Amino acid sequence: MSEFAEIPARARPMAAWPASTTAVAGVVGFPVRHSLSPLLQNAAFAAMGLDWSYLAFEVAPGSLDRAVAGAAALGLRGLSVTMPHKDAAARLATRRSRQVRRLGAANTLTFDAGTIFAESCDGAGLLDDLRVGAGFDPAGQRCGVIGAGGAGRAAVLALAEAGAEEIVIVNRTVAPAWRSAALAPQVVRVGRPADLRGMDLVIQATPVAMVSSGLVGEPAPAERAQPAEPAQSGQLTGQAGSAEEGSAIIAGVDPSWFGAGQLVVDLVYDPPFTPFLLEAQRQGATVRNGLGMLVYQAARQIRLWTGAEPPLSVMWAAVSDRSPAVAHGTATGPAKSSSFESSSFEPIDGTREPD
Ligand code: NAP
Repeated sequence: MSEFAEIPARARPMAAWPASTTAVAGVVGFPVRHSLSPLLQNAAFAAMGLDWSYLAFEVAPGSLDRAVAGAAALGLRGLSVTMPHKDAAARLATRRSRQVRRLGAANTLTFDAGTIFAESCDGAGLLDDLRVGAGFDPAGQRCGVIGAGGAGRAAVLALAEAGAEEIVIVNRTVAPAWRSAALAPQVVRVGRPADLRGMDLVIQATPVAMVSSGLVGEPAPAERAQPAEPAQSGQLTGQAGSAEEGSAIIAGVDPSWFGAGQLVVDLVYDPPFTPFLLEAQRQGATVRNGLGMLVYQAARQIRLWTGAEPPLSVMWAAVSDRSPAVAHGTATGPAKSSSFESSSFEPIDGTREPD
């Protein structure tokens, strides 16, 4: 039960809805028109019989402060926060969770009696999906994370707190990778692309190939082909080339290195299969896209805002209907790793996810 559980979650009236009583939540981002969050959240609210509605608000970079002030003044109950506003959301809040203080970023704002509480549900949503969706427990496992932005940092902190034995970060540029490694220096190091070859789990946490990112099939610009800072011995993140033209290689990591016994997760879910994921799957790795993380972090937001338990199967069904390609075959390939050998690892189809 969340600390905001005392907020009354009204029952949805049978007619004339939305009404003057309807509680409003939404997502702020730029771009945001691609977002599946309204579909997910409204499906959950409807199934829960709650008088809540969830909208998408496109907020230009640099304008989050005005948007949040407006949302508070209008009495919105909560906001999901996506790129590029997560750092600003953490700064704007009047209270921050421990995760947000450590990450310096938030993906959830809760408005309550004049306060704005910032939480980060990304890392916990990823762990939920790894454990429940993929049957993979990161405890004692060797993990690699490609990318050191908000999602990469959240993944690193979550994996470290879940007891991963080792976490190697590979990023296009060096400084963000060091910042991410500082979250858990006992188990995290900045590595070279080839260091990810034998990992139990590899998480692709860059927007490369994401439909709305503008990085789909993007040739690596000349200026991006160099590290932002001079690489130092032993800490080079590898060839800094990124989104190599015509290939599935990201930040020097070649997905053809992966194979049976490895779990490869791409946090992108649109398209449902990135070239990176497809190549890893072709080599026999077990693969999973970012849809599960999206569903589980949305469920955590709903618990936080309403204090009630969202119907996960309804949420899965809502996005599976929208993206049938995701519903069939997101997770395939033999899994040899002992951590997820015993659990059946089947395509995301909304039927295996518990309520
Ligand atoms: P971000 O903060 O902007 O970070 C982007 C990261 O990607 C940085 O490390 C950046 O490297 C790297 N990068 C960007 N373009 C690249 C390229 N062309 N080649 C190689 N590396 C590149 O973004 P974010 O918030 O971490 O999000 C990353 C991805 O995760 C997005 O696709 C987002 O949609 C997804 N995501 C999914 C979920 C979910 O629920 N499934 C949740 C959160 C995020 P530099 O540091 O060198 O700039």
